[in-house]
Amino acid sequence: MKPNLENLKALVHCPVCSKEYRPAKMLLLDQEDKRSTLHLTCESCGASTLVYVSMSPIGVVSMGVLTDLEQGEAKRLFKGEAISSDEVLTVHQFLKEHDSVDELIR
Ligand SMILES: [Zn+2]
Repeated sequence: MKPNLENLKALVHCPVCSKEYRPAKMLLLDQEDKRSTLHLTCESCGASTLVYVSMSPIGVVSMGVLTDLEQGEAKRLFKGEAISSDEVLTVHQFLKEHDSVDELIR
């Protein structure tokens, strides 16, 4: 099962002001079998976030990273280019350093 935008919007909140995102402000940058990357812009505080969502045996895991990229820039970056292995490693490292992933799952 691929996560779709409707499911994802219930998962992600602005890391700055904790408001839920509006789907209209979500841009799907990249989607593979079990992993999606979204660019989100918060309507309340204007913060932009890159969110990685992956399906794992324990459920859907999401991780948000604040970014300076506008949606257009993010789109250009991701167009025709998969997420770099560095970024994937960062996510893996993050998950490894956090004993519980509960805090990541909404
Ligand atoms: Zn916000």
